[in-house]
Amino acid sequence: MKYLKYLFFFTLLVANLNCSNDDKASDENGINTSGNKKNTGSSAHGFLASDTYQSLVIEISYVEGFRPNTQTLINLKQFLENLLNKPNGISILEKQIPFPSKTVFSLEDIAEIEDANRTKYNDSGILAVHLLYINGNFESDTSSSKTLGTAYFNTSAVIYEQNIQELSDAINEPNRVDLETTVLLHEFGHLLGLVDLGSPMQNNHLDTAHDKHCDNESCLMFWKVENNGVLQMMTSGIPQLDANCLLDLKANGGK
Ligand SMILES: [Zn+2]
Ligand SMILES: [Zn+2]
Repeated sequence: MKYLKYLFFFTLLVANLNCSNDDKASDENGINTSGNKKNTGSSAHGFLASDTYQSLVIEISYVEGFRPNTQTLINLKQFLENLLNKPNGISILEKQIPFPSKTVFSLEDIAEIEDANRTKYNDSGILAVHLLYINGNFESDTSSSKTLGTAYFNTSAVIYEQNIQELSDAINEPNRVDLETTVLLHEFGHLLGLVDLGSPMQNNHLDTAHDKHCDNESCLMFWKVENNGVLQMMTSGIPQLDANCLLDLKANGGK
């Protein structure tokens, strides 16, 4: 099977993109962006509870040809509505962005593309998250290992949609919506503080050999989702969060 050649990578990079001048971060229009340049997982409570943010705005920037499927976005909204206390609602905005000038990206490149295209930042009562759907490859990709998504900062993730498209919807490959959804929900799980990344563990379920992942091999947050083990996990569809992950989210202000 073609896709067995590939390792599926969902990467998580924490702290290495911290803004050195956090409090003064702003874009060229003078908008204060510092609330959206913090460590991955550090806004978990803000996502889950309603004491600070009563609504969530999800801004999606995609390169032409690499927009996520509509059903994937419906799945994301359903997933979040089941977990987050957002009485004023969850909205999704989409826009097409220009092709980047390169096709192999470092995380710094990704953050630059985000900066150039992101328009929504946290505001009074409103939490903003930015999802970048991009062509090309992460710099560590090889012919046999492909990065599918990375959560970075507290409200930012990149999805390598070209890699997802290459690895889905052919014979013996996963359904594209299922793979898109699995990648997106896994990365969102990190933004929600899983595992032990901002949503404190109620029971110990941290896989110590695989940082910030769950020890349940059928959970959405299991590390094997990061390699070709995801294939077995997807035979019955999109992996779900297990009881321990759900408990952590609830304890940190979620539903
Ligand atoms: Zn992960
Ligand atoms: Zn779990």
